[in-house]
Amino acid sequence: MITSKELQTGGTVAIVGAGPAGATLARLLQTKGFSVKVFERDASPTSRPQGGSLDLRKESGQRAVDRAGLSEIFRRASRSEAKAFKMLDSEGGVHPAGGAETHKEAGPEIDRGDLRQLLLDSLAPGTVAWGHLVKDVYPEADGRWRLEFAKQGPVTADLVVGADGVGSRVRHRLTSIRPRYIGLTMLSANIRQYLWRGSEIAELVGEGSVMFASGGKTIFVQRCSHDLILLYYSMAVAEDWPISQGFALDDTKAVLESIFAAYRDWSPKVMTMLTQVEGKFQRWPLSVMPPNYRWETRPGLAIVGDSAHAMPPFTGKGVNLALLDALELADGLTAEPIAAVTAAVQAFEMSMQERTLKEIGECLEVGRNIYGIDLDFGRS
Ligand SMILES: Cc1cc2nc3c(=O)[nH]c(=O)nc-3n(C[C@H](O)[C@H](O)[C@H](O)COP(=O)(O)OP(=O)(O)OC[C@H]3O[C@@H](n4cnc5c(N)ncnc54)[C@H](O)[C@@H]3O)c2cc1C
Repeated sequence: MITSKELQTGGTVAIVGAGPAGATLARLLQTKGFSVKVFERDASPTSRPQGGSLDLRKESGQRAVDRAGLSEIFRRASRSEAKAFKMLDSEGGVHPAGGAETHKEAGPEIDRGDLRQLLLDSLAPGTVAWGHLVKDVYPEADGRWRLEFAKQGPVTADLVVGADGVGSRVRHRLTSIRPRYIGLTMLSANIRQYLWRGSEIAELVGEGSVMFASGGKTIFVQRCSHDLILLYYSMAVAEDWPISQGFALDDTKAVLESIFAAYRDWSPKVMTMLTQVEGKFQRWPLSVMPPNYRWETRPGLAIVGDSAHAMPPFTGKGVNLALLDALELADGLTAEPIAAVTAAVQAFEMSMQERTLKEIGECLEVGRNIYGIDLDFGRS
């Protein structure tokens, strides 16, 4: 059985996915001398919009960024003033649950694309193989794992880490438990820039974010970098919406009609203010890993971030937990005394599962309170 020292000095680590978890893990392992390759399905870092802004918490996301030696770059790319948060009702009045407040634990905000880019920039040239969609991973007779790609020839590695998000192609080798769609899809779009300058919404949002909430629905308005304001609508729709309704996501008129229908009981003034969008809509179907998930460790295989414990963004912690996973796994693989890789992965998995089960519970509680989502995992 390979030890972590052998992995560090002569082995190979293959990471599937160059999202926040995969890129952070690659950085942390590379700084310790591991040979790491990341396989990412996107054709390039900019081939797909990465979504809005995230806050990095002190004890998780920021800790990983610090240990990766990137705190100064993070400080320059992030916005402390963006922590401000208000909750309003569907008329634009103060929400009964509390008006203006800043999340106590909130850290500086950074756009998801900027976070990913600063992590990617820290990697040795050629670390990420772009345009590599992993179809599956297979155990080899010698204890290594083989990655099969949609287009390229196979690659083997001593340790494969699935950091490939909610639709992970690695996870099924560890457990048959899969994330479940919660019945809610977030739709996002940018407010037209020329409209928001000096407007009521710009004044409301300031440098931070505002959540309008009423009747199990929300519209989240978020100030991002690059002079953008992003809107997220919560839509109680089927997972394959809008295709199941017979139209495509780039049919902006049809999407807006669906939004108006979903929010028909909201104040027309608020809805007019919150639907002046430009560009294409993005959809984010929300899933959660059932809270009873656990698995037996398999030599040479691990999963981190959303591939291990996808959860809806209700508590705003997903990326923080993903970065903490990367940190804890990297720490385990470089800890003294030197352990077998399997033992290091097992210790990491136990800690990660315990930590995230609690987080999933809290997240589901918020989902119940705000959106009335009550999932019965006994029937899944
Ligand atoms: C609408 C929305 C808002 C959110 N807001 C917040 C927030 O405010 N705060 C917060 O902490 N979290 C938030 N999250 C959650 C956060 O985005 C995720 O927890 C985080 O991105 C997880 O990082 P990850 O690296 O594990 O996975 P991902 O970010 O999903 O990255 C996975 C990577 O793997 C690649 N990949 C996937 N499949 C393959 C394959 N087969 N082969 C090769 N590559 C593959 C993908 O292209 C991607 O680059 C939000 C999520 C959503 C949907």
